[in-house]
Amino acid sequence: MAVFNHTAFDGHEQVVFCHDPETGLKAIVAIHNTNCGPAVGGCRMWNYASDDEALTDVLRLSRGMTYKNAMAGLPFGGGKSVIIGDAKTMKSEALFRAFGRFLNSLGGRYVTAEDVGTSTKDIAHIQMETDFVAGIEGLSGDPSPFTALGTYLGIKAAVKHKLGRDDLEGLKVAVQGLGSVGYYLCEHLHRAGAKLYVTDINEAALKKAEAELGATIVGLDEIYDQDVDVYAPCALGATVNDNTIGRIKAGIIAGCANNQLAEARHDQLLRDQGVLYAPDYVINAGGIINVSFEKDYDKAAATAKVEEIYATLLDIFQRADAQQKPTGIIADQMAREIIARGGK
Ligand code: NAD
Repeated sequence: MAVFNHTAFDGHEQVVFCHDPETGLKAIVAIHNTNCGPAVGGCRMWNYASDDEALTDVLRLSRGMTYKNAMAGLPFGGGKSVIIGDAKTMKSEALFRAFGRFLNSLGGRYVTAEDVGTSTKDIAHIQMETDFVAGIEGLSGDPSPFTALGTYLGIKAAVKHKLGRDDLEGLKVAVQGLGSVGYYLCEHLHRAGAKLYVTDINEAALKKAEAELGATIVGLDEIYDQDVDVYAPCALGATVNDNTIGRIKAGIIAGCANNQLAEARHDQLLRDQGVLYAPDYVINAGGIINVSFEKDYDKAAATAKVEEIYATLLDIFQRADAQQKPTGIIADQMAREIIARGGK
């Protein structure tokens, strides 16, 4: 398993492999870039099929955090961590505390928060050993509602740009994943009058969306074939790929999942097909923006900053049209300029 020659390696500053035999902890911390400040990004727990799959994920996710934090105007660099294991069966206080001790050894170069497979309870266990945690219950708390708000406003920006509409009445949206963020997003969309087409591996979440939000349940693979205006990926990454691009009928792809495009070239492919893509790390920055307000937490100020996602995305869409370039390339260019000047 190569690191420096890995396809997902992007000049990362530091990659740390952590193993604690007593608790069974196997984790990787990737610090991508600290030009704008200490690396901040969540801790994902996932039953990876191989160590290489975990490494690929953490390398890609940490790079995404550098760009996300820069574009959101936060004084943070980019980092991420993954714990290898089944979140349903392997979690324990001891395991997360062991992880916290590893974070201490990094001296604050990386600050963690919750992500897929981890919760505020797990963060509290990590915090028993280290101060390098964010998204703490009772302070900024669960980031998901803020990620959902930013994603909802991002969908509105895309609809404004593509369809020239300010309202979402009757708009058809296919939502893939009704988890912490996806369900809140569906609630926003439902209140705005959108029609929902939803899928998930979790039957209970589907039934709830059907009963509470009038959502239409579709199969896991059928989500790509829906005749909808917006496809909102809100589960895992790489769902926009060679197999799905030809099937997705939506003119807009805008959701909260990280790393939505399987490969960078899919950005151009979407543009060629007239699909407006809201760059993932821009539209899903609401949670980290909220976390950045953790000290002296001010919900109104955090919400106002999350609302800036709407204008940032409109700016990206307009620049992409003016320069005839894919939206992801434009966002990357803008982020790199911010990173090069250290966030100032
Ligand atoms: P979550 O684990 O709460 O929800 C994910 C949902 O997707 C679950 O309901 C799960 O059952 C479902 N799912 C899993 N596999 C699926 C499949 N093949 N098809 C359909 N549904 C499937 O996670 P979350 O916190 O809601 O995050 C969702 C996505 O948004 C992730 O990619 C995450 O990295 C990203 N994200 C989350 C936040 C946040 O604040 N939580 C912030 C930024 C980005």
